[in-house]
Amino acid sequence: MAFSNWAADVARASRSAGWWLLATLILALSWFAGSLQRDVLLGEIERKARQELDLYVSHLVGQFDRFAYLPPLLADDFRLHSLLIAPSNAEQRDQVNRFLGHVNAIAGSLDVYLMDASGVTQAASNWQDEPTFVGRNFGFRPYFTAAMQGRAGRYYALGTTSGRRGYYFSYPVGDSDDPLGVVVVKIDIDTLENVWRDKGSELVVTDPDGVIFVSTRPEWRYRTVGPLSAATIARIRASRRYPDAVLSPISYREQRRLASGARLLQIGAPGGAGYIAVATDMPEADWRVQLLVSQQVIAPQVWQTRLFAMSLLVLLATTAWLYAARRRRRRERDQERRVAMEEALVELENRVDRRTSDLTEANRLLRHEVEEHERTRDELIQAAKLAALGQMSAGINHELNQPLAAMRTYADNARAYLERENLEQAGWNLQQISELTSRMAQISGQLKVFSRKSSGQRLRVPLQSCLDGALRILRTRIEHSGIELVVDVADDLYVAGDMVQLEQVLVNLIGNACDALGDAEIKRIEVTARRDGERVHMQVADSGRGIPAANLAHVFDPFFTTSDGGLGLGLSISHTIAQRLGGTLTADNAADGGAVFTLTLAAWQQERRQAGRGER
Ligand code: ADP
Repeated sequence: MAFSNWAADVARASRSAGWWLLATLILALSWFAGSLQRDVLLGEIERKARQELDLYVSHLVGQFDRFAYLPPLLADDFRLHSLLIAPSNAEQRDQVNRFLGHVNAIAGSLDVYLMDASGVTQAASNWQDEPTFVGRNFGFRPYFTAAMQGRAGRYYALGTTSGRRGYYFSYPVGDSDDPLGVVVVKIDIDTLENVWRDKGSELVVTDPDGVIFVSTRPEWRYRTVGPLSAATIARIRASRRYPDAVLSPISYREQRRLASGARLLQIGAPGGAGYIAVATDMPEADWRVQLLVSQQVIAPQVWQTRLFAMSLLVLLATTAWLYAARRRRRRERDQERRVAMEEALVELENRVDRRTSDLTEANRLLRHEVEEHERTRDELIQAAKLAALGQMSAGINHELNQPLAAMRTYADNARAYLERENLEQAGWNLQQISELTSRMAQISGQLKVFSRKSSGQRLRVPLQSCLDGALRILRTRIEHSGIELVVDVADDLYVAGDMVQLEQVLVNLIGNACDALGDAEIKRIEVTARRDGERVHMQVADSGRGIPAANLAHVFDPFFTTSDGGLGLGLSISHTIAQRLGGTLTADNAADGGAVFTLTLAAWQQERRQAGRGER
């Protein structure tokens, strides 16, 4: 009991552990599916971002190319030369101011201006504006220095006068070895940003120091992507590139770097916005251009995928579970059916055993009864014989008394003839005595036949001698009754049977025929026999009144009799004997009225005769 409780607990625990394991597995797989989906989406976003970045950078390069040719073109203009040679010529200055204003308007740049060799602006497109560049010294700008060294200069900075971010293209005016001054075209950075405004992603351009110079997020401008050293900050301050800028680093965390080089960033406080950052260098301006695409669009899709995967897995698990449960149920049902069948089989076997033993018992009883019956029948046959003997004894008594009286007379006669010495007559009388004794011996022989008990074996019986045996018993009666006996039985007819019993049958049949002829006019008995294949048919027919139709069915019944002194056993016993010998005995009436009894027996076969020789 304790063990089964323990086993049930273990089964329950392992089942719930299995459920937990399955749930964990489903969660892990769903999570993994979501992660895969995120990687795919990230890849897609990155690819698109790179395309956009490339487009943007080529747009920038295009913009720069549009303005890069302008300073060299202007540097060749004689008016600029003239002004630089004679800066005090107000008319000349006015002319150049207008010219530069005109060029600026046509080109779409922010400012165009001319500086002398000391860096002071002599003329500018914004000569009319307040504040104007005219009269201001920008000699500290690296683009001035570069141009004064005879090279085309490029620079980006927050304008000190205008406060606007600009990109500067400069070129020396006059001899490149000893320039008269520098002509500068400044373009607006804002327009480069604005191109990007509506794209839904953030644009970040950093200089080689990591200072963000261009960004679609105004709050990121002039911040750095990493902490700068004090020396770098001092250098940047000295260049006055970003006047008043704090240059503090933006707080961000790099979550992951993808194989393609793209980075996953989280900007701001922990839990802040996540971005996928792709970057490219732009050597034309010494810039690094980055595009930051928000990861926000990814999260819902990833969760959707996770949920979908989870639902699918739960569905799969449920289906598998249902299938397994169904199989288990079917197995259990099969098992139950098998058990039921086995039980039914056992029950059937038991029943068969019971019936078999019943049948065996019934069989035993039946055999016992048959044996009993056979014993009774044998006893009946014997009793019938004794009855017949009793019947006969009266006749025999009469048969023996007669010859005995005759013999006494013959003996007296013989003695008288011997006294008279008449030997011839004495001899004749003695001869009569001798004949009478042999007749008496014949009569007593019949009694011997009746007292014998049959062996029950089927032996070769010559029908003729069997009939002779029967007639020996009946002859006196037949003769005394004046009955005509006709016998037609061949000498070579043999049947398989028992001599004693067959004799008894014939005695019964012929005896009954004698009874039936008691007061008949014609007294005739016919005994015939013939062979038909393997059977021999023997008939005893008489010329009596025959058997009434109502009695025909009963004559073979034991104790059926119509005669006063009869026992009603003769035909019944004869019938049984015929059956025991494998034959039949039937009763009928002949066409002329008399009864006909037919005894059919197996003919003695040649082979049996040979085989039978050993038996005898
Ligand atoms: P039982 O001779 O002692 O009567 P059986 O068994 O020999 O007994 O015969 C039964 C009866 O069958 C007879 O009583 C008689 O009625 C009838 N039976 C037998 N043989 C003949 C026959 N040859 N003719 C007419 N009836 C017969």
